[in-house]
Amino acid sequence: MLPLTLDLTNHSPAPANENFLPGPVLLLGAPGVGKGTQAKLLMADYGIPQISTGDILRANISQGTPLGKQAKALVDQGILVSDDLVNQMVADRLCQPDTRRGYILDGFPRTLNQATWLDSHLSEVCITLPVIAISIVVDYEQLLHRITGRRICPSGHIFNIYSNPPATPGICDGDGSPLIQRPDDSEAIFTERMKTFQIQTAPAIEHYRKQGRFEEIDGDAPVEQVTAVIEAALIRLRTSNS
Ligand code: AMP
Repeated sequence: MLPLTLDLTNHSPAPANENFLPGPVLLLGAPGVGKGTQAKLLMADYGIPQISTGDILRANISQGTPLGKQAKALVDQGILVSDDLVNQMVADRLCQPDTRRGYILDGFPRTLNQATWLDSHLSEVCITLPVIAISIVVDYEQLLHRITGRRICPSGHIFNIYSNPPATPGICDGDGSPLIQRPDDSEAIFTERMKTFQIQTAPAIEHYRKQGRFEEIDGDAPVEQVTAVIEAALIRLRTSNS
């Protein structure tokens, strides 16, 4: 089982990547495969932003914005927000200047419609390298433990009651805050999210597999090992398609 606390202060970039920029990268996979964890590590290594549609939605929900109010019930129940809404969110985010050297899209696209929208959006508005898609795969039982055991500190530390429990149950080791469970991390909602993944997201992943700039990665290994495998794949895919 993976250690799920992520401490970027101890993470040093791989020297081999000093002069390499991966450009636009899609991190795809089921809930709990480690997209967010890996996106943060890639962001630290390459100095390009992580764009997580889930994080953007949760930020809007906690700020009570109109978008957040519209999305809250869906996000809490693990139901996908409409393609139009997330596509617009991503279009707005991709206009920011920090995306010019590349970015890691985490949790988007999640439907075939989102994937085809992204393809045409990028070809219309940006002069950019073609996207590289990385699909992270972890088996169902492992994902169930990762998701239902996940406990989050508001300041960002992530624990898992099975694989990486806090010293005092329910309390963050880092700052003593009470840990919370995301409303959509219950077993019932996880089951729904996995059904949604199979029905709606798997076809988007197949879309990128067919396009060729694609690699499937085993996410059931120590975090740093998964990062190393992803980074090797990025170099391979970007070099063969540049
Ligand atoms: P995540 O943090 O990526 O697991 O996303 C949490 C929730 O946000 C999902 O269960 C959806 O309700 C919503 N969401 C995130 N990304 C998308 C997306 N690309 N399309 C539709 N809904 C999304």
